[in-house]
Amino acid sequence: MRRARTILGLAAALAVAASTPAWSWSNHALLTYWTFKNTPEVAEAPDVVVESFDDFLRAQEKDVANLLDGVESWARTTIPKYPVRPDELAYRIDPARDAAGRRRAFAEAMRIAPDVRLALFAQALPGFPADPARALRFSEVSTLREPAFSMMRFTRLEPGEKVPAALALASSSDEPDFGVDINCWDDSPSEWGKRYKFGKLPFGNPALDFATQAPFHMGFYHQSWIIYRAAPFVARTYPMLRVHQFVALARLAFRTNHAYWGWRFAGMAMHYVQDLAQPYHASILPGVSTLRMIAANTAAMVGWKGPKDAMVVLASNRHLAFERYEALLIHRD
Ligand SMILES: [Zn+2]
Repeated sequence: MRRARTILGLAAALAVAASTPAWSWSNHALLTYWTFKNTPEVAEAPDVVVESFDDFLRAQEKDVANLLDGVESWARTTIPKYPVRPDELAYRIDPARDAAGRRRAFAEAMRIAPDVRLALFAQALPGFPADPARALRFSEVSTLREPAFSMMRFTRLEPGEKVPAALALASSSDEPDFGVDINCWDDSPSEWGKRYKFGKLPFGNPALDFATQAPFHMGFYHQSWIIYRAAPFVARTYPMLRVHQFVALARLAFRTNHAYWGWRFAGMAMHYVQDLAQPYHASILPGVSTLRMIAANTAAMVGWKGPKDAMVVLASNRHLAFERYEALLIHRD
């Protein structure tokens, strides 16, 4: 498979270029807001009562445990080359456990970062200005460093207060970029990564926290077979697992009268779908044939590096330009 192997270097370079930084859309909340502003299911939905995550989990612990086992069975039969969840991470009900212990058990059963904030917050959106008296710092919402020039503003919500469904949905559609998928790999500098058994980080630098979320926020599902054969790491992306987990949780929350968490989990599921709507998160090299990729990489191997380098730089520039254009559009009002 020498011909196939030649593409490994190019696929690796492109996957790394595409995942740095791994934010995809800079502001999902605005994207979601503009998309659903006039959608009757959201616009006409009743306001929802804010509830802490710990209260939701305590009330629905048994349902959540069953649901997460169901999601795991689904993943084992549906996701190709799925790295199975170790059985000891399954959610077990323990009445003696405190809120922090329950949260930890939930994170482990989901295989997400256990230090994720899941804070009660709303983002500033058109028609929903930030409340400076109740401002939350970025670090109270996210475990990641605040991106430079971030325009996000957060307002603290209190349990029991009522908020529009659209605000809960749009605000949480950024949440997976706030630390949900950080350091979940064997080679991650975390205590939990080694126990989650997702394997080593498929691409990117395991020492950069934001790079470790990339394989959950990108999905290379439609490459040529030759790419998967030559660069098997390309197939190790898991956004569909996250979509399925959070959609299932949203349905459970709505069914059991926790509408606030219904919208929040729906927003989180939506995040991963929105990331896949960014062409550079859904394909190694959009618009370029496998044959051209192989040709450029073969040329580089015999010393003519120009075409390959140009391909990587052009892909990276187009990726960024596309995201900047989208950012300008959603900030238009
Ligand atoms: Zn993302």
